[in-house]
Order: sequence, then C-alpha cells, then structure tokens
Amino acid sequence: MQHKFESSQTYAINQDKIDPLANWRSHFFLNEEHIYMCGNSLGIISKESNETLDKMLKVWKKERVGLWNVENNKYFNYSKYLAKKMAPLIGSMPEEIVIVGSTTSNIHQAISTFYHPTKSKYKILIDDLNFPTDKYAIDSQVQLKGLDPKDAVKLVKSRDGKFLYEDDIIDAMTEDVAIVFLPLVLYSNSQILNIEKITKEAKKRNILIGWDLCHAIGAIPIDFESVDPDFAVWCTYKYLNSGPGSTAGLYINHRHFDITPGLSGWFGNNSTTQFQLKNQFDHEKDASGWQIGTPSLLSMAPIEGSLSIFEKTGIKEIRKKSLKLTSYMMYLTDTMLSEFGFSIGNPREEEKRGGHICLIHKEAYRISMALKDSMVTVDFREPNIIRLSPIALYTSYLDVYRVIQKLLGIVKNQKYNNYSKKRELVT
Ligand SMILES: *Cc1c(COP(=O)(O)O)cnc(C)c1O
Repeated sequence: MQHKFESSQTYAINQDKIDPLANWRSHFFLNEEHIYMCGNSLGIISKESNETLDKMLKVWKKERVGLWNVENNKYFNYSKYLAKKMAPLIGSMPEEIVIVGSTTSNIHQAISTFYHPTKSKYKILIDDLNFPTDKYAIDSQVQLKGLDPKDAVKLVKSRDGKFLYEDDIIDAMTEDVAIVFLPLVLYSNSQILNIEKITKEAKKRNILIGWDLCHAIGAIPIDFESVDPDFAVWCTYKYLNSGPGSTAGLYINHRHFDITPGLSGWFGNNSTTQFQLKNQFDHEKDASGWQIGTPSLLSMAPIEGSLSIFEKTGIKEIRKKSLKLTSYMMYLTDTMLSEFGFSIGNPREEEKRGGHICLIHKEAYRISMALKDSMVTVDFREPNIIRLSPIALYTSYLDVYRVIQKLLGIVKNQKYNNYSKKRELVT
C-alpha cells in the first residue's frame, strides 16, 4: 500500500492518535525513556504473559504434583493447549503443531525424522545466508549418518552476498536432493522468500521441504494449509514475546503423522498408554508425538498470555501496521539520513520485506554504540548492518521519528568518533 508520509513530528503524533493498535502498547513493560528497536531479537514481556506465568506458579504452589491435572489436565497437555492458540499464526491444524524444545533442537528432531539418505538421494539443500545454527544442526545430522557435510549439504550461494534468489534455489533442486530447508524471513536483511513457489517446486521434484519461521511468525501471516510444506520450526521469543529461551514450535504436516519421530521420548507416547510405561514406544499420531520429555512449564506459561494478544488483534492487523511502520522508517531514512552515508539494506517491496529494516553504514558498529548511549536499543550485525524493528504491538510512530532524529544527531556531528572500533561482546 502507498502511504503519503511527512517528516514532521506532528505527523508522527497524529499517526499514533489514529492507530487502531495503539492501546496495546500499554500492555507491555516498556521504559518510556528508552526506545526498544530489538523486538526481532528478544520481544518484550506483556502483562498477559506475566499473568499466565504467575498463574502457573500459583497453581504449582497450591497443587504441587496435582498441577498437571488442574483445569482438565491443562498443564499436562500444555503443548496441545498452546498449539490451538498458535495455529492461526501459521494457518495449520492445531494437531500439526507441537510446542517443544528450541529452534535448534527442533531442527535436529525434524531432520532426524525426515532424513533417510540413499546412495542417489542424500543431499540437504540450504542457503548460505541463514542464521548459522541451522547449518550446524544440519551438518551434524548429516555426520550422524556417516556422510560428509561438504558433499551432502548443498549450499545455495547468494549472488551478491545480500539476497537469495528463488531461481537459484530452484535450480539447485537436483535429483540427489532429499530435503530443502530454508528461512522464510532472513534474519539479516528481512528478505521474505516466496514460500508458495519454492515449496511447489520442491514437491514437483519429490523433495521434502521444511521452513524456519523464526523471523516470520508473529510478524507476517503464514498460510500452511495452502503452502502445505512437510515441516517447520520457529522460536517464540522474537515477535511472539514469550521470554528468553521460551519453548519453541515444530510443525509436522498431518500426512507424516505415522512416521516415527527421529528423537523419541515418553511424552510423545500415545497418551492413553503413556502411563502404562511399556518398553515399546508407540507415538501419538499427531505432532504431539514429537514431544520428548516433560514440558518446560516455566518456559511455556508466558506463551499462553502472549498468544491471547494475537488472538485479539489478529496477524493481518499486525502486519498492516508493521508495514506502515517500516515504510515510514524507510521514508525518514531516505529523506533525512541518506546524505550522511546511510542506505537501506532490506527489500523495499512489501511482499518481500519482513518485520524489521536494515540500515547499512560504514560506521554501523560505532553508530550502534552511540545509539545505546542515547537510550535506543538496536542490534548490530557484522560487518555494517544496524537492524531496527518497530513492533506493531508496542512501537509508536513517535518512537520511529525519535530514533531517526537520534541517528541524525549522531551522524551529523560524527559523535560515533567518540567510540572505539573494537567490538564488545554483542547481543
Ligand atoms: C533466532 C533464530 C534461531 C534461534 O535458535 P535457538 O535454538 O532458539 O537458539 C535459529 N534460527 C534462526 C533462523 C533464527 O532466526
């Protein structure tokens, strides 16, 4: 959608007045002196998440082991309970979702489930721009099968070191590829891959395909009913605001429910026989069969509160505001910052841009240090990227305006010269 933006502060204030999501800001624990632009790395806690965590603790204090069975076994079946609330965010059936582990451990779970290499079909196709933990997990799964990642992990290179090109990915889907695994939104520059097209092409070639939704879920609408991939993984602490290390998500397409999970454990057992504690594992024939051990309630309870906010607002409304916030930020960058060496590193097209924007500057590191001292939290990514994520649920237009003003102050007066180029331990 085309917006007509203006560069005055009054414009920002007026946009906040007419923003239908503006009231949600008060549900989050923000510090008004501080502008938080790092929600794509770690979301902020909401009152709702605080409450569901408190409630879980209260039940534990009162009920002890009886905690598992309150409210119709809610906590015992907590993965299923949360999956129902999560399903609209990816457009799947609740039965196809399990809330378990971390993104990285869920990649191990999915690959160990679906990767059965043969002599002629044994490669896993990934890209070279994704967050590295995904590759570490894939490499180690390949090694566990006695294969060499240099041969069995096929890396699609970015042509320009910045973006991925769908045609390059599709061209790399040769007959020896067994699985394709890709990020829906790139963590570095927010690029959205065409999930429909790539998934369709993989299926045409009889290749299984999985998606990493870490930077997509809670930021952009996803429709798995129509995309119909084989599996997916995601974390819940970025746009889903559920806390550092909160339990992650795994999607298993229902057509695979009969496959035995690669990593089995008693919480994945058929629930009617789970407590017969037999020696033979018989997995539940839905995604909950991919659970391993006892659910980590402390890491799951905040997800419940957070998802209640998404239930009330809806991902479409969130996406609409997010696009407007990022467009506005790009507009201010173009009009005020470009003459000071800033350029925009994310795709400009709406259908190709996720929830954050990415500013490029040769002094990006020192600028991000100066921003920190100006009470703005952003994150820096090597070698010259500043990521800024205005979050629809809690960032105002005025926040965006003020961040650009602060950036302007830093580059205009070259305040970054006061900082060392030596890297601190980065987040
Ligand atoms: C955030 C992120 C992860 C995080 O993995 P954890 O197991 O939660 O540490 C993995 N992959 C991608 C693409 C991410 O963006």
